[in-house]
Amino acid sequence: MSHYTQYKDQILYWCKWLNEHGFFGTKLGSGGNVSCRIENEDTIAVTPSSLPYKDMVTDDICIVDYNQQVIEGKKPTMELSLHLAIYKERSDVNAVVHTHQMYASILSVMNIQKPIPALFDEIAFAIGHEVAFVPYALSGTPELAANVAATVTNKCKCYIIQNHGAIALGKDLQQACLHAEMLEKISMVYYHSLAARNEVHTLPEPILQLVQQLFGKG
Ligand SMILES: [Zn+2]
Repeated sequence: MSHYTQYKDQILYWCKWLNEHGFFGTKLGSGGNVSCRIENEDTIAVTPSSLPYKDMVTDDICIVDYNQQVIEGKKPTMELSLHLAIYKERSDVNAVVHTHQMYASILSVMNIQKPIPALFDEIAFAIGHEVAFVPYALSGTPELAANVAATVTNKCKCYIIQNHGAIALGKDLQQACLHAEMLEKISMVYYHSLAARNEVHTLPEPILQLVQQLFGKG
């Protein structure tokens, strides 16, 4: 047992929670991945490659430094570079949750040209003024990590990767998982609103400006 154990336990707890609630798209599979920063170190705790969540135990969680060197564990997720790209770009983020959740996945294939606008004030104040789409690149490639790094500069907390899935960010794992839940709610609402072919009402401009000030973008 090392000082990393508490971080591994947290990752495992939230992975099981996300899996039981269907956020990885399947419940028997290993899709998606989760990480958090280790306090006062240039390292992160991150889920392993290709291991079903239902079988995952604490010792399976990897500890990796910012140069992708494995300190503890076997083989980290193939999306390690995506996680590290976010930590390098966003000092406000301490936890990254990459999911294959259902309604965000539906929107990821719908060829929507613009970010999802702010629809509910309590969610906008939590996750930001929009949900931007990360341009598609093959899973696990430096191109996908670069596309993610270029998109998270908008300072928001949720993203949809085209033809792939979702990313939720937080100051800790619980908050990142809450943001994944919020993203699923607005994805479901937005999808059904679009499917009903009715005009979607967004938040009034003054509220949007407030949200944008809060997230440091005018
Ligand atoms: Zn994925």
